[in-house]
Amino acid sequence: MVDTEVLHSITTKSREPTADSQIQVKNLSHAYQQRQALDNISFDVSCGEIFGLLGPNGSGKTTLFRILSTLMPVTAGTVHIFGRDLATEVKAIRNLLGVVFQHPGLDAKLTVIENLRHHGHLYGLAGKTLRHRISELLERFGVSDRAAERVEVLSGGLQRRVEIAKALLHSPRVLLLDEPTSGLDVAARRQLSDYLGMLARTENILVLMTTHLLDDAEACNRVGILDEGKLVALGEPDELKTQVGGDVIIIESVDSGTLGPAINEKFGVSTVLTDAQLRIECERGHEFVRDVVAAFPEEIQSVRFGKPTLEDVFVKLTGNLFT
Ligand code: ADP
Repeated sequence: MVDTEVLHSITTKSREPTADSQIQVKNLSHAYQQRQALDNISFDVSCGEIFGLLGPNGSGKTTLFRILSTLMPVTAGTVHIFGRDLATEVKAIRNLLGVVFQHPGLDAKLTVIENLRHHGHLYGLAGKTLRHRISELLERFGVSDRAAERVEVLSGGLQRRVEIAKALLHSPRVLLLDEPTSGLDVAARRQLSDYLGMLARTENILVLMTTHLLDDAEACNRVGILDEGKLVALGEPDELKTQVGGDVIIIESVDSGTLGPAINEKFGVSTVLTDAQLRIECERGHEFVRDVVAAFPEEIQSVRFGKPTLEDVFVKLTGNLFT
């Protein structure tokens, strides 16, 4: 059994910022009047990695994203991006950032190439340099053959890839994406993850994305888990899951409130009741499943058994389901 206090201190321990840490967030807080949206957040991110900010609705992802993308000022704590202070060097930092917002940033009536050309001009790119960069990015994101088509005829997944290509035109060092997979089907989400992975590896760019989807977070190199404005966990997905413990058993019963204490007493394990489900962490889960079903055949309606997921990390740390 892992002690929650100990787990919490392990999982939120910030890596020491190194010369490679290109984003350093230290004791960042933000309040909207009385509402504390971010509460003393610290983490750092390096080039070549995909960092996921995972959290349920209302956990503070958008607020943090808006601060990092320079749309909102830093009011408490500090943020440094490539050594520059976000509180005082906004203009210099903007040049380092490529940003993909949740709401579509493409003109649907224009073609793919027209969208990219216009955006390039805004950044002072033109002529051969711009043409070269556009064709390189379209190639890289697998949309070269759709360059002359209007954006509105492309699938959601392709449009998202064009948006990312657009954000990369001026060769930023940091790519920030707000919920990039929202509205995409599973196949398009996986494909997008693969493209981002390729990008982080080959361009040595830092990719930071927000998500409320556990699968997306699993595909990141490192994850920060937010809950009610607090960073409750920070680390590689596998590392976080290992710290939860052996196996996770989820039991459904018509009377979970009574069954939980009965299981505690008989097996000496601790059960957590979330949304009428009992969650139990234990070693040798397959044996426990056999024994608990034998002991409470009438009371148990269903049992699920598996290795810990990031949702289990979240449940362990907050006592709530990730919804
Ligand atoms: P997320 O993106 O994870 O859903 P947000 O950053 O949007 O979280 O919100 C964090 C908290 O701040 C929530 O409790 C939300 O209601 C609150 N909040 C967000 N924007 C505002 C605002 N403009 N005014 C007041 N409260 C806000």
